[in-house]
Amino acid sequence: MKVVVIGGGISGLATAALLAKAGCEVDLFEARERVGGRAYTWSSKKFTFETGPSWYLMPDAFDQFFRLMGTSSAEQLDLVQLEPAYKTIFEALPGQPAPEPILIHDILGKNLEVFESVEKGAGEALGRYVASAAEVYDLAIKYFLYTNFDAVKPFMKGELLKRAGMFLSHLFKSLDGFAGQHVRDERLRKILDFPAVFLGASPYNTPSMYHLMTHVDMNVGVFYPQGGFYTIIEAIEKLAKAHGVRVHTSSPVSKIVVSDGRAAGVVVADKVIDADVVVGTADLEFVETKLLDKKWQTYPSSYWAKKQPGPSALILMLGVKGELPQLEHHTLLYSENWKKNFAGVFKKADGKSAIANPASLYICNPSKTDKTVAPKGHENLFVLVPCAPDVSIGGEGDAKLEAAADDIIDQIAEWANIPDLKSRIVTRKIMGPADFANDLNAWSGTALGMAHSLGQSAFFRPRNKSKKVKGLYYAGHNTLPGIGLPMCLIGAELVYKHLAGDKSTTPTEALKPLVGRAGA
Ligand SMILES: Cc1cc2nc3c(=O)[nH]c(=O)nc-3n(C[C@H](O)[C@H](O)[C@H](O)COP(=O)(O)OP(=O)(O)OC[C@H]3O[C@@H](n4cnc5c(N)ncnc54)[C@H](O)[C@@H]3O)c2cc1C
Repeated sequence: MKVVVIGGGISGLATAALLAKAGCEVDLFEARERVGGRAYTWSSKKFTFETGPSWYLMPDAFDQFFRLMGTSSAEQLDLVQLEPAYKTIFEALPGQPAPEPILIHDILGKNLEVFESVEKGAGEALGRYVASAAEVYDLAIKYFLYTNFDAVKPFMKGELLKRAGMFLSHLFKSLDGFAGQHVRDERLRKILDFPAVFLGASPYNTPSMYHLMTHVDMNVGVFYPQGGFYTIIEAIEKLAKAHGVRVHTSSPVSKIVVSDGRAAGVVVADKVIDADVVVGTADLEFVETKLLDKKWQTYPSSYWAKKQPGPSALILMLGVKGELPQLEHHTLLYSENWKKNFAGVFKKADGKSAIANPASLYICNPSKTDKTVAPKGHENLFVLVPCAPDVSIGGEGDAKLEAAADDIIDQIAEWANIPDLKSRIVTRKIMGPADFANDLNAWSGTALGMAHSLGQSAFFRPRNKSKKVKGLYYAGHNTLPGIGLPMCLIGAELVYKHLAGDKSTTPTEALKPLVGRAGA
């Protein structure tokens, strides 16, 4: 089977690797000069900054991918577990001292103690919350993440039917509402709300099903691959190439060729590249509306007009002289106007969006753990300020956005007590929604992809297979199962499952050879 993969982010690389391991002849075309997509790097003055992912969560999904490739995460990556997992800093109200920061640890027991110390009874409540999260996570892995939802039978299992009531109740309750049933203290509630952001979702309109993320960060732990997240991309690219994948960079695909209702190849630099199967892993909105003629579009512009893109971000990469003991590897700043912040981020582009001031934001300081990412005596800061997916906010070099970045640096200096932060910055770069749109063909400049609200999750999310064109498949954050590196690895496996005719809901035991046009 001759396969063409469009896009060399983690989804494209992982799909290419799995299909090549299963015997396909695979060509991957990436528009940019390097693979990686959202998981990219920028280097300056001996600093190496990651421009995208920085939380290694759901290690089991990475383990599953590398196992299918005949290796292991341990062989491919140098993982360390972070302690503390992260620190949260809260805004001080006018005339009042700032509330104490809260550290979340690598062991659940310690987190129960932390919660109890903040609010009587909250330790026991967190225990219940995490136990429920672990149960939902386990069921999600068995039934809802590794499935293309193309058969009903695998869901007719006693274990799942018995838990149907619990599942349904989690579909129609918001994550914030569920957190509020467990803790009253606003700081603790924000800590339970926050994981929604990993999914490009607001805790106010995301089903409480996603409290499973608290199992992921508090029970399983937060990891970091030494050398940075790009080592994950390099490992997958190397495995793909070892199985024969031809990776073509600086090669944007301009069209998907359809012949007699079948995907017949793609056009790259005015040349047709023939294929039996095409897998689009660039942003699905772009693939569907820009690479396919109207009659072949399963998800035309009218579909996207009704959907909510996940947040975009103002990103700051800052090389800082001297040490920053005030920050942990992961530090979160939570503003008092939390709900208003979310409302400003989870809205459609209207040309009037702006960066919140002050903002709830995230700072990664990987040089805390990894000495290779900054020169000696310096720290490497990646700051992510969620904002609306609205390209009118701008991108690198826009005076308005650079000024907003200055405000963010002032906010960090004040809240984290680093008064001389600005004067210690030795290199700096910013990115905004317009950069995501220009560099990656991102739908409405979203950083993360389609938000995980109820109507945009699981079987309601765009499917991995075109309904109009045979042999055309999709992977990536806008399609099943969703946003984040682990989910994208699962999405790659889902394409394999389609081609193998595998309608099961569980992770694949072992890859079987794909021959001819089987399943396509
Ligand atoms: C700022 C930020 C922080 C994040 N933090 C985390 C985190 O901490 N943990 C986590 O797990 N996830 C995180 N994510 C999400 C995660 O990075 C993404 O879900 C994932 O990388 C998406 O991979 P992808 O392959 O689906 O898409 P992409 O990485 O966008 O890859 C798509 C590729 O397609 C290419 N392309 C576009 N058009 C064409 C064309 N015409 N022809 C050929 N190629 C084309 C693009 O150049 C790109 O390389 C973060 C994302 C961002 C942006």
